[in-house]
Amino acid sequence: MKKYILVVLFALFIGFVWSAFLKTSSLSTLPVVMLESAEYAEKIDVITDSFREDALVSDVSIVECTLSAGTQTECFQFTTIQAPRTETVGPWCPTNITDAGAEAGGMWLENNEAYEVDGTFVANLNAFYEDEQWKLYDEATGEIYVTDTKEACEAAARPDVDEAYHNHCVECQISYLEELPEVTYTIPLEPVPGKTVQSINNQNGIGIAFNGVRYDAPAPVDAILAAHTIAPFDDCGGHVNPHVGYHYHAATDCPDQIIVDDEHAPVIGLALDGYAMHTQLNLDGTAPTDLDECNGHASNDLPYHYHVAEKGANQILGCYHGESGCVHDEKGIACDASVRTGGRGGR
Ligand SMILES: [Zn+2]
Ligand SMILES: [Zn+2]
Repeated sequence: MKKYILVVLFALFIGFVWSAFLKTSSLSTLPVVMLESAEYAEKIDVITDSFREDALVSDVSIVECTLSAGTQTECFQFTTIQAPRTETVGPWCPTNITDAGAEAGGMWLENNEAYEVDGTFVANLNAFYEDEQWKLYDEATGEIYVTDTKEACEAAARPDVDEAYHNHCVECQISYLEELPEVTYTIPLEPVPGKTVQSINNQNGIGIAFNGVRYDAPAPVDAILAAHTIAPFDDCGGHVNPHVGYHYHAATDCPDQIIVDDEHAPVIGLALDGYAMHTQLNLDGTAPTDLDECNGHASNDLPYHYHVAEKGANQILGCYHGESGCVHDEKGIACDASVRTGGRGGR
């Protein structure tokens, strides 16, 4: 009798453990790390070696993930610090309308052009935008109104720009960030072409450069201009947002490049859908002529990949060809890109 009770209790216990396991495995927020295998190890090495040594602050792991159109597959997952580790960043805003030359400020993107932001550019914004309300400087001294504190940068970098910072040149210094934001990327191991192309707007990042800096969706220029502000990019195409750190809105020659052959444009990063991002131009200076609406093609024995748009475009990629993965600002979160909730975007 005693033995019978023990057996029943043991069976109940096993049942309890098993159901608890099933519950945690289906509801867990932790991605399941895949078993090691030689094939995975090789893929991890390839992706790890693509990045500059100090760009990653975690190992690359392989996890289960759900892509934007619901495909369940395997993804790379890794964490970076949201700042370039070696290049200096800036400058963005010139300080006086007499400041001249390329060193005076960064660049501003309009009409597919990248304009040098120097004192003259700022002084002539009213003519540039054909709107007399532009006046970012003190008439008596020529001094340009620049957001020069953390509070000013936060108030001016909001989508609804604080009235006090209308008619300002907006810049945020990396030193305003209490700590450099860490960003975790979950990107498909094998890209999955989408049934239709997907918009890249309003998302938290569209890819990553091999120096660890995020490529972002277009800066929301309408909101910025409506407040008669500009938030220039430095000559590498980047600027700092108080929440997301340093990020690129334009692809330039700054990020590390990986040469693939003696003709084709080098690789400069990885898009969030797992396809490689190449420079705009091939090594001989010509642009590919057969790009699709997402700026992509397959050619020269290379599988489908993107070429980034010219730096003036404020749109690094046209759209996603494949199902995209996730960008999180916390570690250890399972990627379900089919239920994207927005999160930290920003200008
Ligand atoms: Zn190509
Ligand atoms: Zn931005």
